Amino acid sequence: MLAGEHQGVKYYLFPGLAALPGVRHGVFTRRGGVSQGAFATLNISFGVGDDPRAVRENRRRLAAALGLAALQSARQVHGCDAAVVEGPLLPGQTPETADILITARPGVGLLIAAADCQAVLLYDPRRQVVANVHCGWRNQVHNVLGRAVGLLRTGFDCTPEDLHAAIGPGLGPCCAEFVHYRREFPREYWDYQVRPGYFDLWRLSADQLAAAGVPPDHIECARLCTRCLPGDFYSYRRDRLTGRHGTVIALSGDPER
Ligand SMILES: [Zn+2]
Repeated sequence: MLAGEHQGVKYYLFPGLAALPGVRHGVFTRRGGVSQGAFATLNISFGVGDDPRAVRENRRRLAAALGLAALQSARQVHGCDAAVVEGPLLPGQTPETADILITARPGVGLLIAAADCQAVLLYDPRRQVVANVHCGWRNQVHNVLGRAVGLLRTGFDCTPEDLHAAIGPGLGPCCAEFVHYRREFPREYWDYQVRPGYFDLWRLSADQLAAAGVPPDHIECARLCTRCLPGDFYSYRRDRLTGRHGTVIALSGDPER
């Protein structure tokens, strides 16, 4: 992963995605924000008990780091519903419930919040569409990535072979323990165990993207475990009461185009 920094806000970049024209992104860490205590410092979630003024300032810093006027997020519910974002919501407007955010409008940053779940970025350089997918294990059970690719095909005329995908930080095979996997995961996922009860959820995401038609050489993975990296990332498994780091993708260009 490449590293970026803007006025103390630290983020990572996927090398493949960063090399493509027409798109900008940031895998933000927890460093460079104003939140205190368990939420220190760059928490971007309003739903975890943090001071909303701090969250607003942190979100402003994310947008500023990428040079975006606005970010768009939704209430994430570990499902596979999608929201197509045409422009930023007005202040006070209630965000939709969605785990898949898609936009074809330049300048709109799609924001996914996570603390162990992956954010998976999708970009079609030909059709000029981006998506950001909240991809925790519950979403994976619903094949949320396959659904996201399907929505890009049907809604935006994307060809899966054109898509580029980037799998963000999340629980690694070192820490993704599922004691009750027999009732939580379908049987075909059991092969993703690296040792009894521990799952390679990164490989599962890569395989689900490939099964949806994304070329394997267009799929990159951060391979950063959120639970193992307390300086960089929030982890619900590790800390329970904690914040959420943000991942953002946007089409670059003139938002008024
Ligand atoms: Zn780990």
